[in-house]
Amino acid sequence: MSAGAQVSTKWPQHSMDRPQPPVVDPGPFKGSAPPPADAIVLFDGKSLDAWRSADSANRPARWKVADGHMEVVAGTGSIATKQAFGDVQLHIEWRAPTPPKGESQERGNSGVFLMGMYEIQVLDSYQNRTYADGSAAAVYGQFPPLVNASRPPGEWQTYDIVFHRPRFNSAGLVAKPARFTVFHNGVLVQDDVELSGPTANKARPPYHKHPDALPLSLQDHGDPVRFRNIWIRKLE
Ligand code: MG
Repeated sequence: MSAGAQVSTKWPQHSMDRPQPPVVDPGPFKGSAPPPADAIVLFDGKSLDAWRSADSANRPARWKVADGHMEVVAGTGSIATKQAFGDVQLHIEWRAPTPPKGESQERGNSGVFLMGMYEIQVLDSYQNRTYADGSAAAVYGQFPPLVNASRPPGEWQTYDIVFHRPRFNSAGLVAKPARFTVFHNGVLVQDDVELSGPTANKARPPYHKHPDALPLSLQDHGDPVRFRNIWIRKLE
């Protein structure tokens, strides 16, 4: 059995000295990938029916839907799927605001949170320096992307994510850590990395036992990031 990559102990979390991921031009967006037959469509460009407010199952998602995309409405809060998921393949398209506004973490920030707690960072990382483990397609605070395959703000970008949830033993301790493989605009940026626990800002909290399936959430970080063509395949 091969072990995935571990969180580096060489660099402090969020270190600005940690080398920046090398820039790789992924080429232009070539069109949306249609959902495969067995995929659950979470957003088809028309409605937020599959979503609710992340902080309450009874509150509707309040982001804007227009022209085939959804857009973060600052202050309305993060949104979560009504359905819960464990191991999945996820396709999601996103677009950072143009013209770009702000620097570092304040530019086009959002996030894709598997099980509501394991974040693949969404950020406008095109000519925008920030700490490596907070770049676009980072496993936030744990793994910088292997390369920076960002497109300019205003252009559509894709994440294709394979996620395996952690497994807990009967004592409630982690037996197998959560794992991510991620492609950003078709380029491999996370290669079967093993998470140290839930992702967090200025912290690397340990695992705590949680259900085998939990909602996927998208972050309101105050920036009008857009999303579209979101589909997911259950792998369990
Ligand atoms: Mg974020």
